[in-house]
Amino acid sequence: MNARMSRALDQAAGLDGLLITPGPDLAYFTGQRPPITERLTLLVLRPGHQPHLIVPALELPHDPGELTLIAWEDGDDPYALVADLLDPRGRYAVSDSAWALHLLALQQVAPQTRYTSMTATLPMLRAVKDADEVALLAAAGAAADATYEQILGVRFAGRTERAIADDLARLLREHGHSQVDFTIVASGPNGADPHHEAGDRVIGEGDMVVLDFGGLKDGYGSDTTRTVHVGEPSAVEREVFDVVRAAQQAAFEAVRPGVACQDIDRVARRIIEDAGYGEFFIHRTGHGIGLTTHEPPYLVRGEEQPLVPGMCFSIEPGIYLPGRFGVRIEDIVTVTSSGGRRLNDTDHELAVIW
Ligand code: ZN
Ligand code: ZN
Ligand code: ZN
Repeated sequence: MNARMSRALDQAAGLDGLLITPGPDLAYFTGQRPPITERLTLLVLRPGHQPHLIVPALELPHDPGELTLIAWEDGDDPYALVADLLDPRGRYAVSDSAWALHLLALQQVAPQTRYTSMTATLPMLRAVKDADEVALLAAAGAAADATYEQILGVRFAGRTERAIADDLARLLREHGHSQVDFTIVASGPNGADPHHEAGDRVIGEGDMVVLDFGGLKDGYGSDTTRTVHVGEPSAVEREVFDVVRAAQQAAFEAVRPGVACQDIDRVARRIIEDAGYGEFFIHRTGHGIGLTTHEPPYLVRGEEQPLVPGMCFSIEPGIYLPGRFGVRIEDIVTVTSSGGRRLNDTDHELAVIW
């Protein structure tokens, strides 16, 4: 049983075990990334037992390491094999990303067992990164930063949002991303939609443009946002931009161990409210990042979880003026013993581009 498995079972005191499906949880515990399909693959972790992997015979891992394999063939009932390992009246945490198909079938063969979600039960497990993970997130952040530096050199005016989005995706891959999850290019009034999909709008002089992009590099996520302006910005655009920048900076400076997640949100929100734009900040301040680009902890009202060294999350306040424009600035930040450290480090000034 490796250190991550032991740590998980320590944190899961009171549970009879963990049921891990392919996806970020299985990658976290074993490094393995088998296909996610209707054929059941399940890692069963129980205190005092070797880790068992129920796996389709045609997907046997080449290097199972310390896993005890239980292979099944088409026509077998893999859920019955799992049930044989479980305490029929036990309680188990299940990967958040487990398919309902699999969990419902398990409930059929083991109707008395009870299930709880991994993140509800073990909120700190993947939320607190070890040094290796922070290094991978820093490398992903540096790749996103290099992408931003280069996108500043491309022509915006006269080109569509989609063309810029394609440039971003290409640059992310050139800087080592194996997967691009999103390339938001939201120009002019489209910027008022935080999750605008890059489309056919042609970018022109006078446009604010929100650029929010990221994906996975060596298995770990990047996610950064900068807002740029084509030509000289108006006084109002500059004012709104400066409010967002101040909110992002204040929230970053508030990061230190022991501060509640919701207090980071509160710090950013207060600055935007005091400037008169509170109703236009329409989302939480941030989300965790790791093996996925959105995961706990969430910097959101009501989240009392205190910050812990090793946590990594976005700080991304924004202001969205319907029909006009939007501004958002986003960095990934990690918590250290003395405060926060940015994993995105490009300039926060409003870049004027053409
Ligand atoms: Zn403008
Ligand atoms: Zn983002
Ligand atoms: Zn984000």
